[in-house]
Order: sequence, then C-alpha cells, then structure tokens
Amino acid sequence: MKCPACGSHEHQVLKSKGKITRELLLKCEECGNVFRETVETPRPLEIRIIISKFEESLKKWVSFYPDEILRVDDILEVGDERVRITSLENKRNARVMESMVEDLISIWAASVDIPARVGVSVDLHGRVLSRKVEVDRDFTFTVGDVVKMGRTIFRIKTIKTLERRMRRGFAYADVTKRVYGIPVSERRYDYVLTMNVVT
Ligand SMILES: [Zn+2]
Repeated sequence: MKCPACGSHEHQVLKSKGKITRELLLKCEECGNVFRETVETPRPLEIRIIISKFEESLKKWVSFYPDEILRVDDILEVGDERVRITSLENKRNARVMESMVEDLISIWAASVDIPARVGVSVDLHGRVLSRKVEVDRDFTFTVGDVVKMGRTIFRIKTIKTLERRMRRGFAYADVTKRVYGIPVSERRYDYVLTMNVVT
C-alpha cells in the first residue's frame, strides 16, 4: 500500500472494518496524507485435527488463516478444550516441527485438560511391577529420574513414546506410553507417583 501523494509505504492504520474485505483508513507517516485502501483478507482454511485422549482419538476441524504458522507444542483451543500439538503432517505426508497452515493436511494433538495415563514398568529382578499412573499432560519424564511409587524406588532407564524408545532425554506425559525403571537402593528421589497410581 502506497501513499497516493508521496509514494511512501510507511503508514499508520487509523481505522479498519470488515472481515473478508477490509476497508482501511491509513495515514502516511511521511507526508501525513490520509487515504483509504480496500484489502482482501485470505479466507481461513479448515484443517483436520486428530485429538488423542487415552486410547481413543477424535477427529475435528479447526480453521486458521493460510499464512499462520503452527508449531509442535503450541496450545490450541478447539471448541471448549485445550489441546497441545504433538505432530504436524504436511501435504508431502511428512511430519514436521512447524509449518504454514496452507501446507498442512492434518494436525495431531493431545488434550491438555484431562490427565495423561502412562504405564510404569519396574523390573524387580525377574518379576515386573506394572502400574498405570495419571499425571498432568505437561509433566515431563526424564531418563535418570529417581521415582518413588509405593514402597518401590526406581530409576527411569527408558521411555517409550508414541513414536520411539528413548534411552536419554525427556518426554511430555501426553506422548509417553510407558516408562521402564530398575529399582535403586538410594532413599533420595526426585518425585513421588504413589498417589497417581490408577491400577
Ligand atoms: Zn505520503
């Protein structure tokens, strides 16, 4: 948008109205000329979103402008629930960490309003202690964490997420399927999951 009087592109928006076609009242920052412009705003696109909740997944549609950028870990409002983006699938069927909306086919997300349910397996030398725990979706499990669960204190050795098995690093609870631990003799621990056990 160019000032009709001096040709400058620097301006201030004084007024803006309309949704699909916006009428702008602009003031040139060079010469102070006030002029009107009409701009077409891009229509929002409907993008499929797959929201996982425990073992089931729900398909919904969300609308965004084509030039909006979405990233893994962004929090979105879908209807009356909040979800966190866990993966983005583009038109080349690739999973990417960020993308413009116009390149996307699907958004994968997990609800953040309900707790995540994560399996815990502790190898007690031949016998496996297996439990399910519920924790906040943004809770993080880190390989090496020392955890107290009931009378057992264990160290996390591996983490199995929706996509891979990790021997280092951390994962959010909402993408963690199971953590595997081995008992340790130390009495100090990073956190307690006793009250989080559901089965
Ligand atoms: Zn001007």
